[in-house]
Amino acid sequence: MDFLPDALESYVEAHTSVESDLLKKINRETHAQVLKPRMLSGHIQGRFLSMVSKMLRPARILEIGTYTGYSAICLAEGLALQGKLVTIDINEELENRVRAYFASAGITDRVDYRIGDARKIIPSLEDRFDLVFIDADKENYSAYFDLVIDKVVSGGIILADNVLWSGKVIDAKPDKDTKAIVDFNHKIQNDSRVENLLLPLRDGIMMMRVI
Ligand code: SAH
Ligand code: CA
Repeated sequence: MDFLPDALESYVEAHTSVESDLLKKINRETHAQVLKPRMLSGHIQGRFLSMVSKMLRPARILEIGTYTGYSAICLAEGLALQGKLVTIDINEELENRVRAYFASAGITDRVDYRIGDARKIIPSLEDRFDLVFIDADKENYSAYFDLVIDKVVSGGIILADNVLWSGKVIDAKPDKDTKAIVDFNHKIQNDSRVENLLLPLRDGIMMMRVI
């Protein structure tokens, strides 16, 4: 679901910095060759992730849900010198494609790309993160938050994508994934360890600042 009328969406795009040629190519190829291309962040959200990262200049970024690498490349744009991005995805079929995109972006040596279940991998990470992007299976959003919260520095930012779930979060009879997102949003609203802002950008981004 698109929240903005097409003409207004086009206006927003026309007044947002353009995507790099590589990001355009990833966007195009994902739509032509990969299942569920709507999962890709895209132009506006990609620029938002890049902007947040450049504001924070994080030494360590964690992304949960790499997909075809679009958001990872946007997030990596703001990495501090010597910074590192850890990105996790359970889908090994995308590995070759993603590694090639990371190579084209020139970030291979700054990306730690892990294939596997994020619920198993996150507990093994020893880094403290400045920026976290939660964008994997919606059912586990609350679990991911619980697994990362103690690994985020004070003042660090956690972003969780798709928290409006095409508007279904206000449905009277939510389905399973919707219920998981509703529970997540409720949990965050009541967690005093973070300040939060539900940003109605694209499909909704929960922005959390760790106190
Ligand atoms: N962040 C990407 C889109 C991610 S789509 C972008 O904005 O471009 C969601 C991804 O989560 C999918 O690639 C899926 O394989 C992955 N995923 C689903 N369950 C997972 C799990 N348990 N652990 C790690 N990744 C998972
Ligand atoms: Ca998403």
